[in-house]
Amino acid sequence: MISKQMEKYGSTRSCIRELFEFGRRMKAEKGEDAVFDFSLGNPSVPAPKEVNEAIVEILRTKPSIQVHGYTSAVGLDAARDAVAQDLNARFGTHYTRDAFYMSVGAALALTSVCKALTLGPETEFLTFAPYFAEYSVFSTVAGARFKAIPPNPPTFQPDAEALRAALTPNTQGVIINSPNNPSGVVFTEENLRAVAEVLVAKEEEYGHPIYLLSDEPYRELVYDGAVVPHLPLLYKNTVICYSFSKCLSMPGERIGYVLMPDEIDDCEAMRYAVAGAARQLGSVCAPSLMQQVIARTAHLRPDLASYEKNRALLYGALTKMGYKCVRPDGAFYLFMEAPGGDAKAFSEAAKEKGLLLVPADDFGCPGWLRASYCVDYDMIVRSLPAFEKMMEEFNA
Ligand code: PLP
Repeated sequence: MISKQMEKYGSTRSCIRELFEFGRRMKAEKGEDAVFDFSLGNPSVPAPKEVNEAIVEILRTKPSIQVHGYTSAVGLDAARDAVAQDLNARFGTHYTRDAFYMSVGAALALTSVCKALTLGPETEFLTFAPYFAEYSVFSTVAGARFKAIPPNPPTFQPDAEALRAALTPNTQGVIINSPNNPSGVVFTEENLRAVAEVLVAKEEEYGHPIYLLSDEPYRELVYDGAVVPHLPLLYKNTVICYSFSKCLSMPGERIGYVLMPDEIDDCEAMRYAVAGAARQLGSVCAPSLMQQVIARTAHLRPDLASYEKNRALLYGALTKMGYKCVRPDGAFYLFMEAPGGDAKAFSEAAKEKGLLLVPADDFGCPGWLRASYCVDYDMIVRSLPAFEKMMEEFNA
């Protein structure tokens, strides 16, 4: 017998993957230029040259046995020191290496924290819609329930009063993601403070901590001076799940960390439980070579010039055509209301024109579409007539 639940996870492709595969088939049939693929969130900016140089240097200078060996489960001291120093320099914090668990990307970081906090099937994780669809997988695989707070258009800022209404004594964690995938919204400090106030009040009422799981793979991808507040400074029980996938353009290398500051409740138990959960998930340690790379490159920032250029073109052109778009302050996603109201129908019809847009139904936000603009600028230019035609057809 095979687990039906796992079979389902393995056999059902996400809508994003479906679109991507459709695009590949269409490209083979009709040529590369006939497809305008805005489906995937794969960075289009190359990794900083220092990342590649570090890899070469490490391979050239270190004994192979050190490069490729297991590291301790929590990660290399040098990698954890580097991320601690980088955050301390930016946010005035005093983290030490002990607060960090190096992980196989943000996905493992989040799954491990969810597992560490799951007490039984009654445990709940909450998030604000729209949200990264994998959160439901991460929490249900941990054995908990996943609940989303309805979206708050047109700003898509977190609504603290809606959070207050959704929390229950079984809520162990609230997952928050800013800059947001899929909306591109950066949550304001004011709204985050309101969220923190509600959580503090509910912790008091329920008599147990409620952890804020801050999923931050896009933390460095912000435009026009938008600021991403450092959440542990606003709310004590914050655990950060970070990934270098997007900011250093290395998603296939699978490297990130969990930050569990000294101040969180049950800190020692949480650190052991996260390590225990990662162990149970079969993660012996994060990739060794990549930890060594991060030890040398944690301070680097992405070159945002091409994302900024793409963002200006797409947002400007679509808004002019009449699309209702959320102004994206961060990440590399443009979120727009589906003309006609049915995002799935719009996406299906757009496919016929080679235009691949993700309906946000799986992100908990029906009626909206996501376009990833981590793509080639010229492809955006070529795609504009297809957007125009779609608007004519669906807004009639
Ligand atoms: N969280 C969000 C919001 C994401 O968009 C992604 C990847 O796209 C992840 C987590 C997973 O990141 P990683 O590649 O580090 O596992």
